[in-house]
Amino acid sequence: MKNQEELEMLLQSPRNVVVIMHFKPDADALGSSLGLAGFLKKLGHRVQVIAPSNYPEFLAWLPGNEQVLAVDDRFGDSLLKAVQEIEKADILFCLDFNNPNRVNALEKPLRDARGVKVMIDHHLEPENFADFQKWNTQSASTAGLVFDLIHDLKAVDKIDADIATCLYAGLMTDTGGFRHNNTRHQEFLIASSLVAHGADPHVIAKKIYDNNTLERLRLTGFALYEKLVVVPEYRTAYMALSGSELSRFNAQTGDLEGLVNYGLSIGGVRMAVLMYDRKDEVKLSFRSLGDFSVNELARKHFNGGGHRNAAGGQSKNSLQGTLEKLLAVLPEYKNQLNA
Ligand code: 5GP
Ligand code: MN
Repeated sequence: MKNQEELEMLLQSPRNVVVIMHFKPDADALGSSLGLAGFLKKLGHRVQVIAPSNYPEFLAWLPGNEQVLAVDDRFGDSLLKAVQEIEKADILFCLDFNNPNRVNALEKPLRDARGVKVMIDHHLEPENFADFQKWNTQSASTAGLVFDLIHDLKAVDKIDADIATCLYAGLMTDTGGFRHNNTRHQEFLIASSLVAHGADPHVIAKKIYDNNTLERLRLTGFALYEKLVVVPEYRTAYMALSGSELSRFNAQTGDLEGLVNYGLSIGGVRMAVLMYDRKDEVKLSFRSLGDFSVNELARKHFNGGGHRNAAGGQSKNSLQGTLEKLLAVLPEYKNQLNA
């Protein structure tokens, strides 16, 4: 692993840079990427931001969004263009993921890329694929690590209102509005600096959290009323939503964001799970309280991972089959869930 001075040297002359985030990016993946891209442009680099998939409408207002190359099946040449950018990049910043399989169709091009790879991430159990890494699982957000990088480069004065807004969005959402147990003193110091550089906490929270459609609210109501199941024996709450249920409410990317947390708000519940049909797989979201590690469960049984208290995974099984599998693995965790 190379050190930071070498990265600084590398950034001293203008480069072709790609900033790439994980599939189905959340506000931290997109915000940290756009924040870093804005900063690198100020240093004189040519920057292409790549998202391996589409992402929710409630993130599309982030400054710099219009420059994102999002790989989207509906636009045939976006994959090809992304591959070309990856091939020609001198430096590839990989943000908010630590295993190349999280960029889906771009995994092979990313692995084969000739450019220098820099991983900036806060998830558990990384694969060692990068030449440089800024990896810290204590950091609540990747956006905070981008701030740390800018700070290490002694360039905090280059943070303008757009960069600050993007980074603040990632920091705010990955801490659940500064409420999750990953919220340290450091998160507030970073937030304070970002606000000083022009991020507006009220405006950003409003745009991200108060951005419902009527259909999305109704879908939430339906899921809570008809779909939420509590299994007291395992202190687990789950919801499983089929493709036809999602179509009934015209569900869009991002409409299920945050839904998993409701289960965890029930007294006594230690783990909440949301699963739903995605085109060719079932996607799972896990949340937990305290020492119970959903990262471990997601990694072992659902081809996923993440953090101790927030993780995701997927299954090629049917929705029913995936639910049966979840119920079948719960006994393995009975003691931990009841500890
Ligand atoms: P969410 O449930 O909100 O999709 O994701 C929760 C956390 O787990 C996020 O930090 C996300 O990056 C991570 N995560 C979600 N899906 C996956 C996955 O399939 N694999 C891995 N390794 N992490 C995931
Ligand atoms: Mn993150």
